[in-house]
Amino acid sequence: KAAYQRVRTPHLTKGSLYEKSGHLDHYRDAMYPSMDVDGIEYYVKPMNCPHHHKIYAARPKSYRDLPVRLSEYGTCYRYEKSGQLFGLMRVRSMQMNDAHIYCTKDQFKDEFLAVCKMYLYYFDIFGIDKYQLRLGLHDAEGLGKKYINEPELWQQTEAEVREALQEGNIDHVEISGEAAFYGPKIDVQVWSAIGKEFTLATNQVDFAIPKRFGLTFTDEGGREQTPLCIHRAPLSTHERFVGFLIEHFGGDFPLWLAPVQVAVLPVSDKVIDYARNVETTLKEAGIRVQLNGQPDKVGAKIRQAELQRINVMLIVGEKEAQDNRVALRRRFKGDLGTQLLDDVVTELKTEIETRRNTYRTN
Ligand SMILES: [Zn+2]
Repeated sequence: KAAYQRVRTPHLTKGSLYEKSGHLDHYRDAMYPSMDVDGIEYYVKPMNCPHHHKIYAARPKSYRDLPVRLSEYGTCYRYEKSGQLFGLMRVRSMQMNDAHIYCTKDQFKDEFLAVCKMYLYYFDIFGIDKYQLRLGLHDAEGLGKKYINEPELWQQTEAEVREALQEGNIDHVEISGEAAFYGPKIDVQVWSAIGKEFTLATNQVDFAIPKRFGLTFTDEGGREQTPLCIHRAPLSTHERFVGFLIEHFGGDFPLWLAPVQVAVLPVSDKVIDYARNVETTLKEAGIRVQLNGQPDKVGAKIRQAELQRINVMLIVGEKEAQDNRVALRRRFKGDLGTQLLDDVVTELKTEIETRRNTYRTN
């Protein structure tokens, strides 16, 4: 919907690409060691950016082609020392919901604002209502050292980022000395429902690397220009975001997000065939379901499902099997009586499709 082109890039690449991107200079410690393939140094991919730049550069571009938005649910590998690994928050292999937008200076403001709005859209979906956008700016002392030495470009892009945020009415704080090497960036701090703070999203402007990669487009006057590049990863890595969500919901996911949405609990072996039918009906409706066919008593099965924090339990006995019913039980709500299976499926599907976040309280 947001007009991105999906791409896919390789996990292994020649070292020369990461020399060009500067990763080997600045980032080698966080990369896995090289491997020798037919006398050439190869690395596992530490970041998707240089690969997307290569895709942009594969064909000549004119101003009419811009903006080019490349997105990838890309796998990256980082060498974290074993002492630094931490649950889902710091891992060695990660999936990034990553994208790069190549645009002209005139398009920049709209593109940047669209990305910020996409963040807010996601936060709304997940019920994250406490967040802060932090705009990291350069400082003059860092020019030529910490920051690429282009004072005018810094002033100009920082002003445009600020304007975009103001136009979009997006609350933010500005922090000097927190920019990326190649341009201003936005970090988003979010607070989980239980009050823990996380840094999730980043959105960075890049006016240095496109030049280094020789990325160009021809403008209206037939002149060669360098595009700006926006790096964005709104939900951080998949792993870190799932880690955040577990905290955010205290392990009690709303139905639409739960890994197992429904447990089917037959009261005895006699109704196992009917229980399987119920399982199949739910699966066909696209609902994530688990059938507990163990010989335990139904009370024990309910306790297990509660421990697994499964949102919906459908208990089936002989009476239910006779006329296609299920006894509905929901976490935090208890027993809700016997209902027709079809009605329950319809109701659950609606709840999942509308991504209701607040089942605990309603
Ligand atoms: Zn990037």
